[in-house]
Amino acid sequence: MMNFEKYVNKIKVKSNTKDVPVFSCLIKDEKIAFFSYNNSYKRKKITGHAEINAINKAIRKVNNANLSDFTLFTTLEPCLMCYGAIKQAKINNVVYLTENIKMSFRNDVNIDEIKMNITKLEDLKLELKYQNIISDFFKHKRK
Ligand SMILES: [Zn+2]
Repeated sequence: MMNFEKYVNKIKVKSNTKDVPVFSCLIKDEKIAFFSYNNSYKRKKITGHAEINAINKAIRKVNNANLSDFTLFTTLEPCLMCYGAIKQAKINNVVYLTENIKMSFRNDVNIDEIKMNITKLEDLKLELKYQNIISDFFKHKRK
């Protein structure tokens, strides 16, 4: 299994941020090729989700909009917008760390129509660590 822990550890919740802490990366040959974080609020871009940032970075660098050779890893299950971007980039394999209860693409897409492999990373220790980061974020936000 790949070591995502160091990236999850890099997610820092700043008290002044309004961006939900999400990390995403594109993996090829067991290596993280491109990664990004959610900066939607900071950049004032609705499309600034971690998945789309990582996909855009990859497209610019490899100069190809077909990223079917890559697997996308994301700490939070993708939303409908990112699901669309993942499909547009022809990425067939997605791995996520924790469920996105409110905004999961599954809330809007018929499960039987999903033609990509979306699996949950089975790493409870890392998932709990990430869930703590998320809950810290919402605690700060409510203040
Ligand atoms: Zn998204």
